[in-house]
Amino acid sequence: MKSITDLLKQGVVLGDGGYLIELERRGYVDSGSRREKVGTGKGSGQFTPEVAIENPDALRELHREFLKAGSQVLQALTFFGTREKLNRAGFGEQTEAINNAAVRIAREVAGGQALVAGSVSRTQLIEREGPGALGQAKDLIAEQIRLLKDAGVDFLILETFFRLDEMLAALDAANASGLPAVTTLSFRPLVTRCSDDHTPAECARVLADHGAVAVGANCEQEPARMLPLLREMRKAADVPIAAQPAAFRTTDECHCFTRQPAFPDNLETIQVSRHEFVEFGKIAEAEGIGYVGGCCGCNAAYIRALADGLAESK
Ligand SMILES: [Zn+2]
Repeated sequence: MKSITDLLKQGVVLGDGGYLIELERRGYVDSGSRREKVGTGKGSGQFTPEVAIENPDALRELHREFLKAGSQVLQALTFFGTREKLNRAGFGEQTEAINNAAVRIAREVAGGQALVAGSVSRTQLIEREGPGALGQAKDLIAEQIRLLKDAGVDFLILETFFRLDEMLAALDAANASGLPAVTTLSFRPLVTRCSDDHTPAECARVLADHGAVAVGANCEQEPARMLPLLREMRKAADVPIAAQPAAFRTTDECHCFTRQPAFPDNLETIQVSRHEFVEFGKIAEAEGIGYVGGCCGCNAAYIRALADGLAESK
């Protein structure tokens, strides 16, 4: 199996889709919406990855579906798997077990046909406590990265970071581990600036300068809304661009689906069709986006659509 850096040199890498929303729909992940207002970034237990130890077969099946759709990378379901986030969900003591199990399951399914990426995201500490918590956030992320490295991931996807400073802290920890890192920020509420006020172009430049093997965006927007910011990043950085858009329609006033009234219990009403991912695949191939997959709302049908789009424009 080639490394992620070698795969990126060969052409567009096809990733996988979103796990937590799909597994929530299937009844295996808790959205938290019965207990609290979800989407504020301040909640307790929503959308955490304990399915890896509680219902491993459900996770295994979703990995299989993505692999069958053509994914060259399977993301271990370790999103929101820092001890901080798991603590608040009541699973802190299982931090090692959850991260280990998620990587083991992804590796088992990948079976040498796909790379396994460890998924690492923000701690949510900074949303709750402010930028003073950055050092603590970095320690927590570094702990998770050590667990993922020990469990044997091939590389890291640092994703769904809202702030460039927290992303840089995570990238430092990734660099210290020796694992290559793909870095994708999530821009909200508008695609023009990240939460600590940098443009997509600035983010791309800084992350590329700090050694990210690919830079880009994931989650929050549908492909058409994300595309302009990806083009901005592409002009600013000379590393491959990575894009894992969501499959939910956003509005001109609010470019993120997690702040739409439909989140999280009525997402079906803003679902975009898989056809938009065929189109996105065509554009990705034509414009040389290096890594494409899907985030929330993208099941295997969307990854097949992306694969079709990539193939059509070759
Ligand atoms: Zn997402």
